[in-house]
Parts: sequence; structure tokens; C-alpha cells
Amino acid sequence: MNVLLVYVHPESRSLNGSLKDFAIQRLEHAGHTVRVSDLYAMNWKATLDADDNTARQPGARFDPSMDSRQAFENGTQRVDIAREQDKLRWADGVILQFPLWWFSMPAILKGWVERVYAYGFAYGVGEHSDTHWGDRYGEGMLAGKRAMLVVTAGGWASHYEPRGINGPIDDILFPIQHGILFYPGFDVLPPHVIYRTSRIDEAGFSKACEALGQRLDDLWTADPVPFRRQNAGDYLIPELTLRPELAPGRSGFDIHVERD
Ligand SMILES: Cc1cc2nc3c(=O)[nH]c(=O)nc-3n(C[C@H](O)[C@H](O)[C@H](O)COP(=O)(O)OP(=O)(O)OC[C@H]3O[C@@H](n4cnc5c(N)ncnc54)[C@H](O)[C@@H]3O)c2cc1C
Repeated sequence: MNVLLVYVHPESRSLNGSLKDFAIQRLEHAGHTVRVSDLYAMNWKATLDADDNTARQPGARFDPSMDSRQAFENGTQRVDIAREQDKLRWADGVILQFPLWWFSMPAILKGWVERVYAYGFAYGVGEHSDTHWGDRYGEGMLAGKRAMLVVTAGGWASHYEPRGINGPIDDILFPIQHGILFYPGFDVLPPHVIYRTSRIDEAGFSKACEALGQRLDDLWTADPVPFRRQNAGDYLIPELTLRPELAPGRSGFDIHVERD
């Protein structure tokens, strides 16, 4: 299988750097082909702006969505964007690996998503009408591929439990798991989170590798998070609210996961 590892850390000798090296070895040893997008090493341009469409008319008003659409359709995207889209097309599995910074992904990775997820590639795909609101949330250009987050966090696991002060980790990661990965069609695996990173020593690192290695071994067999698919009947269209008879009386992120 082909695995794209999008790796985010500014220091190669960091915990994340070591985990990335371990992951590559483990995956290659299992016979997979691995490509790495090391965003800091690539000096990835994090800001989406008018320069991303190489065919813009000078002085024309910049429209982030429409410029993206035009550049994607006409093949005038910047080459760094097109190259990452090619890697996504090539991949059977995609891993996003990053340290949790301010309860989310580092800005450089957010910028990778904003720029690589072009209109027509990751959104604005499929028929858009009052009866079919696009191919998304379970359908789309990246359907049939698997994705997994590998996240390191300074906080303890208990801080991220359902009653922990930071809020549940599944809620914190929901915008990434559901909004960024499930949206364009990925089957999204449960995230792999490594907590309390400042306490990691040699023994802790071995344990962390063992646990990560198991997740990598299970990449193709583990059950994805059963997010509800937009176009499978669970939602009213065009309101796009969950049908009242499903998860009655409940609200919040969790209703979008099929628990029955
Ligand atoms: C801007 C910012 C925002 C943050 N926001 C949050 C937040 O919202 N929530 C939260 O929980 N945390 C937060 N943190 C903490 C952050 O998540 C952790 O610092 C990060 O995940 C640690 O990963 P690292 O790769 O930088 O680890 P490093 O600092 O490189 O290493 C961590 C430990 O692992 C050891 N180690 C590294 N490599 C090896 C190796 N090969 N063998 C053995 N031991 C090794 C190091 O000695 C060190 O003790 C934030 C940090 C920053 C800088």
C-alpha cells in the first residue's frame, strides 16, 4: 500500500521527529511504500492567498474559493499545491502527525489543508442542489482511502477524558477528524494520541513506539470511526440536520457518530 505521512515539527531531533522515523521504518518493513511531506523542511507556504492561482489577472479582486476553483480546473495552481494533491491521489492511506498546539494542529499544517484542499478537489465536489448537497462527509475525491492522526500532547490522558478540564479529546479533534478528513471522503481511524510528552524517557519512548507500531500494523484492518454519511439517509436535505428520530433529544459532535 502507499502511505503519505504528512509530518509537522520544526525540529528533526524532537519526539515527533523520532516517531516519524520509527513510523517510516515500521511501514516500510511491512512492505508499504512511504512518502513524507515534512512541512517545515519543505518550507511549506502556510498562507492561502492570491499567489496560489498563477493565472490571476493583476489587480483582480481575490476570491479564495473561486480563484481556487479556477486554478484547479485550469491547471494553474501553484506547483507546490498540485504536487501535494498528486501525493493524496497516490496514497491509499494518509497519516497526519503533529504536536497538539493550542488544542489544534500547528498553523503550518492548517495552511497545508487550506491550500491543498482546493475547490473541486476537496470541496465543491458533486451535484449541489436542494436534494443532493455535494459529495462530502463520506463521499468525495478521497473516498476509499484511510486516514489517521498521530498526535502528541503535553497534557495527561486524564485531562482529555470526558470530564477532564481540557475537554474530551474526541471533541477537540472532531473538526479535524470529521471536518477535514471525513468531509472529502476518507475513512477515518480513531486518532492515536501520545499524552504527557514531557515525561517521556527512553523506556517511555519504547512504549510509545510499541503502541504506535501496533496502530500502523492495523492501518488496513482497524474499524474506522462510524461517522454518519451525509447522503445515506440520516440527514434531512437541504437542512442537513440529523433526522429527529435518530439520537432523539441529543445534540453535539457525538450524534454524528453512529453508535447503534
Ligand atoms: C505553542 C504550543 C502550544 C501547545 N499547546 C498544547 C495544547 O493545547 N495541549 C497540550 O496538551 N499540549 C500543548 N503543548 C505541548 C505540546 O503538545 C508538546 O510539547 C508536544 O506534543 C511534544 O512533542 P515534541 O515532539 O515537541 O516533543 P519533545 O519536546 O521533542 O520531546 C518530549 C520528550 O520526549 C523525549 N524524547 C524525544 N525524542 C526521544 C527519543 N528518541 N528517545 C527518547 N526520548 C525522546 C524528550 O527528551 C522529551 O522529554 C503546546 C506546546 C507548544 C509549543
